[in-house]
Amino acid sequence: MSQLERQKNKESTLLAEVLPNASSYISGEDVLFHELAGYLKPKDVSQLRSAYLFSQNAHSGQYRESGEPYISHPLAVASILSKMHLDTQTLTAAFLHDVMEDTHVSKPEIRKQFGKEVAELVDGVSKLDKIEFQTHADAQAENFRKMLLAMARDVRIILIKLADRLHNMRTLEARRPEKRRRTARETMEIYAPIANRLGLNNIYQELQELSFRYLFPTRYKVLTKATKAIRGNRREVLKKILDAIRKCLQDAGLNTKVNGREKQLYSIYKKMVEKHLTFSEIFDIYGFRIVVKDIPSCYVALGALHGLYNPVPGKFKDYIAIPKENGYQSLHSTLLGPYGTPIEMQIRTDEMHKIAESGVASHWLYKSSDSDLNSGLNDMHLRTHQWLQSLLETLSDSDDSLEFLEHLRVDLFPGEIYVCTPQGKVLALPKDSTAVDFAYAVHTDIGNSCVAVKINGENASLRTKLRSGDRVEIMTSVHAEPNPAWLTYVSTGKARSHIRHFLKAMQAEESAEFGKRLLNQALLSFNVNPKKINAAQWQKLARESGAKSKKELLTDMGLGKHLPAVVAKRFAKPGEAAVWQSTKNDAIAILGTEGMVVQFAKCCRPIPGDHIVGFIKKNQGLVIHIHDCPLIAKNRNNKNSWLDVTWSQDIARLFEANINMVVANQRGVLARVAESIAEADSNIDNISMEGDGAHSNIKFTLQVSNRKHLAQLMRGLRHIREVTRIYRVKG
Ligand code: MN
Repeated sequence: MSQLERQKNKESTLLAEVLPNASSYISGEDVLFHELAGYLKPKDVSQLRSAYLFSQNAHSGQYRESGEPYISHPLAVASILSKMHLDTQTLTAAFLHDVMEDTHVSKPEIRKQFGKEVAELVDGVSKLDKIEFQTHADAQAENFRKMLLAMARDVRIILIKLADRLHNMRTLEARRPEKRRRTARETMEIYAPIANRLGLNNIYQELQELSFRYLFPTRYKVLTKATKAIRGNRREVLKKILDAIRKCLQDAGLNTKVNGREKQLYSIYKKMVEKHLTFSEIFDIYGFRIVVKDIPSCYVALGALHGLYNPVPGKFKDYIAIPKENGYQSLHSTLLGPYGTPIEMQIRTDEMHKIAESGVASHWLYKSSDSDLNSGLNDMHLRTHQWLQSLLETLSDSDDSLEFLEHLRVDLFPGEIYVCTPQGKVLALPKDSTAVDFAYAVHTDIGNSCVAVKINGENASLRTKLRSGDRVEIMTSVHAEPNPAWLTYVSTGKARSHIRHFLKAMQAEESAEFGKRLLNQALLSFNVNPKKINAAQWQKLARESGAKSKKELLTDMGLGKHLPAVVAKRFAKPGEAAVWQSTKNDAIAILGTEGMVVQFAKCCRPIPGDHIVGFIKKNQGLVIHIHDCPLIAKNRNNKNSWLDVTWSQDIARLFEANINMVVANQRGVLARVAESIAEADSNIDNISMEGDGAHSNIKFTLQVSNRKHLAQLMRGLRHIREVTRIYRVKG
C-alpha cells in the first residue's frame, strides 16, 4: 500500500468513526432521487428507493478500497444511468448489480422482490463481472461470447456494465498500480470501443481519458500541465474568438448556443503519436461547439464561419450527409483564427447533440418506454441492432475461440469505407469491399450485370479494393452474368448471396432448357409430337417422377436425374414403344455454350468435326465424348444413358485439344514451337515436358476452334526441324 493510499484509508476510517451512520454521508443520494422524481412516476421512484435500501442492507459492512461504504458504488452507477434517463428496471438492476457477486443474495430472491426482468439484468451483469481480460485468451473468448449473447438479448446489460466500469475508472486511484494498469488496458481495448459503437459519446471519451491516465501516468501528467499552461496563456485570444463567432452567427440571423470545448488529452496525445508532432506543434487544442435548431442552419452557420476565418483545407467533414456508423452526426471544420490559432468547430442540431451526448441506445430505450414501441424502432435502433447482429454472426462462423477474439477486436474498431456513385450518392461499405460489392450495394441488377469498373475515372479491375472517397462507376452489359470467381474476393454478405443465388438459378434455367431439348429429341423417336402433350399429362408425370412441376422435371432431366428416353416412353402410345430406335437425324445439336449442363470430357477432349456421343451423367448433365474414347466402352451397357449428339453449324467458341510432341533438345526449340502456335491463332492452356537428354516429350493443351484449325496448327509444328513426332491424344 502506498503512502498516499494509507493516508486516504486512514482518513476514511476517521470519517466513518465521526459519522457512525454510514448512509448519512453518502454523497449523491438526494441528488439522484431528485433527478429520478423528475422523469419517473412516483411508484417507480419508490421501487427504486426500496432497491437502494435492499442493496445498502446487502452490502452493509463492506467497503471499497477507497474506504467508502460499498453502497456508494451502486449509487454512483445508478446516477450515471439516470443521466441517460433510463427505465426503472435498468436503474433497479444498477442498484443491485453487485449483490449476487459480493453478498449472499440469490437470483430467485431478486426475482421475488423485483421481478423477472430485473433478476435477468442483474444476472447478466454478474456474468460479465466474471470476465478477466488478461491471461488465457481462450477462456476470455469464451467469456466474451457470453457477453455478446447478453448484449443481443438485452442491450441494457451492457449499459449497466459500462456505467459500472465508468465509476470504477473514476475511482481507480484507490487501487493497486498493477490492478490499475490491467483495468485501464481492458477499458481502452474493450469497453471504450463498445461505448463508442453504441454512440455513448460522453462515456466513451471519459473512459478513454481515464484509461490514458492510468496506462501512461507520466505522459498524462506532462500533457495536463502543458495544456493548462497554454490555455492560460491564450485566455484572452480565446475570449476574442468566442465573441467574434457569436457576433458572426448573430449577423447571419442564427439563434445558436456556442460553447468552448477543451479537447481530450488522449486525442491530443494520439495526434502527437500518429503525426509525429511535439506538443508545441499541436495548436488546435481548443474547439467550439455550435448547436442550432435545424439542418439548414448547420450549413448556414458553416458558411458564415468560413467567411469569418479561413478554413484549413482538407479538414472539413460532413457527418450530417454521411453519419458515422454509431449514428453520430455533425459538421466538422478547422478554422485558422487570429495569430494563426487553429480552432476546431463542431456544428450540429439539438437532436444530433442529444444523440452525440447520450447515445443511440439510451435514445431508443427512452423512447420505447413511452409505451409506443414502434417509435423506438428508429434508424439508430436498427443500426445498433445490426451491429450486434454482425458480431454474433462472426461468433457463429468461428469455431476457434482465439480466432473469434481476434475478429471481435477488429470488429470493435471502425471498419467502414465511404464511396460514391457518379451521381454523388454516398454508400457506406465494410472495409475491404471491392468494386463488385459496390455494384451489388447499388442494385442487385447492377451487380448481376457488371463487366468493368472505373474508379476515379480510371479503368480498374472488378476485384479492386475500394478506399474512402473513391468515385466508382460500374459498367454493365445485358449479356453479362455473375462470375463464380467473384466469390473468392467479395466481402459483403449481400454480394455473396446474390452471386450464389444467381448461379443456382442459372443452373436450373440452363438445365430446364437443355432437359427440354433432350426430351423433344427422345419424343421424336417415339413419334410423339411434344406440342400434343397437355398440362394434365405433364402434371401426372411430374408427380410420378417426384418433381413439383413440369419445369422441375425438365430441370432434373437436364441434370441427368431422369433419362429422357425413359420419360419419353411414358408419353408414347403403347404400340410405338417397341419401334423406338435412334436415328442420326434427331441428334441433339451441341453449341458448346449450353453452360453447366453440357461438359466436354477431359479424357478425350472432343472438338468440332469429331464424331461425338453424349453420356448422361447423374446430377451433372450431358458429357460429350469422342465416339471412340476408350472410356466409352466401359459404360456401353446402359443404353438409355447414351444419346446421339452432333455439332451445331454455328459454333463460336474455342475448344481444348491435347497434343503430344517429341522434339530434339536444341536451344530455342520451345520458343519456336510457341511462336508457331501463336502464328496459327491458338493459345497454350497447359504444358508439361519430360526428356531423356537427346529428346523431350512435350504435352500441350491447346485452344482450337475445330478439327480443321487443329490440322493447320499441327502442319505448322511439323515444319519445325527439331519436331520429330506430333500427334493428337484422345483418351
Ligand atoms: Mn460494480
